Amino acid sequence: MTPAERQTSRIEPFDAVDVIRAKRDGGAVPEPALRWMVDAYTRGYVTDPQMASFAMAVFQRGMERDEIRVLTDAMISSGERMSFAALGKRTVDKHSTGGVGDKITLPLAPLVASFGVAVPQLSGRGLGHTGGTLDKLESIPGWRAALSNEEMFAQLKGDVGAVICAAGSGLAPADKKLYALRDVTGTVEAIPLIASSIMSKKIAEGTDALVLDVKFGSGAFMQDIDRARELARTMVALGTDSGVSTTALLTDMNVPLGLAIGNANEVRESVEVLAGGGPADVRELTLALAREMLALSGQPDADVEKALDDGRAMDSWKAMIRAQDGDPDAALPVARETHTVTAAANGFITRMDALPFGIGAWRLGAGRARAEDAVVFAAGIDLHVKPGDAVRAGDPVFTLSADDAARFERALEAVEGAWEIGAAPIERGPLVRERITA
Ligand code: URA
Repeated sequence: MTPAERQTSRIEPFDAVDVIRAKRDGGAVPEPALRWMVDAYTRGYVTDPQMASFAMAVFQRGMERDEIRVLTDAMISSGERMSFAALGKRTVDKHSTGGVGDKITLPLAPLVASFGVAVPQLSGRGLGHTGGTLDKLESIPGWRAALSNEEMFAQLKGDVGAVICAAGSGLAPADKKLYALRDVTGTVEAIPLIASSIMSKKIAEGTDALVLDVKFGSGAFMQDIDRARELARTMVALGTDSGVSTTALLTDMNVPLGLAIGNANEVRESVEVLAGGGPADVRELTLALAREMLALSGQPDADVEKALDDGRAMDSWKAMIRAQDGDPDAALPVARETHTVTAAANGFITRMDALPFGIGAWRLGAGRARAEDAVVFAAGIDLHVKPGDAVRAGDPVFTLSADDAARFERALEAVEGAWEIGAAPIERGPLVRERITA
């Protein structure tokens, strides 16, 4: 919008500076003014510097529960609202706040769908050290992330029952604009802004139920469990107030999840879990989230372990991949170059910090620095041991994979000092720490 259009197009009922001042001074912004602020920003009347200033005021002063509800609702109203009512079956979705090696959506969606529940997983691509679900799936030859609404509905309604696809740009466009602004103005980590951003998209998507995997620790948004709990409570309240049955699990993200960090290697690991094997922590979290999702869908006693072990979840996975033109039996990309780091001494792995390993995988090409970059599907890190495991001098600890060996140096710099061998074994705390309900 040009300055001339801004002056002549309509008479605005509020003034952005008044809204900013109200929040700056610690007050609650009245509902009509807050709704206007979001709408006027989406239209381009409220400028980026004004919205950045407002976001910083929210970062510093916080928001009351009712303000967060209004902010979320205003962001939902900025775009389309989907409805799955015509499907004739319950829908349930999962959202993770993101972590290193977090591939849980891949085994989880088909596992839950194998119980006859529809699982619409509208997902994104990765930016920075946390990988994107679509990037991982795109390493499967032929698999297609972009589906029309008709294709998505047909897949959910029919035998497949699960769909993982790209979220359309019509959902909560105000959030898209505000999130990009927060990213460059140091205002991402405000709980009211994170909660309204995530929940506006999930509520607009129209799911009946939602399970949140809210992570804490070195590889998560929230390092601290108390802040993660506050974020989880805020999101559960927002979902519940909007009529979406919502619960959350607080889960540990201090150590990478599973052994694979990347794209194709994470698909491989997910398939192992769907075959009844895979690393214990990936299986445990998949089962815990599946139990939550099925409980919210009226099946609290569903035997999810059996569905993983007897091949039902695998059948559902293959059907889901084929429905989106992927070949579930095709070979996955393999890297041209590898470099294995070995243990210098006998002992036990006492530490393996998630964030540096996420950054290392990203530097190998598994992630992107700019939205327009391509990822290297075969790039990443495969761990051979985890904290608590015994090693002997010379044993492999982890392997880096890339298409260009020149990438190894910076990846090794990232993980330098991020893992340790000690004389005594360590006890790891539980992966799932708390369950948050309305
Ligand atoms: N993911 C989102 O969609 N929004 C946030 O603010 C943070 C994570």
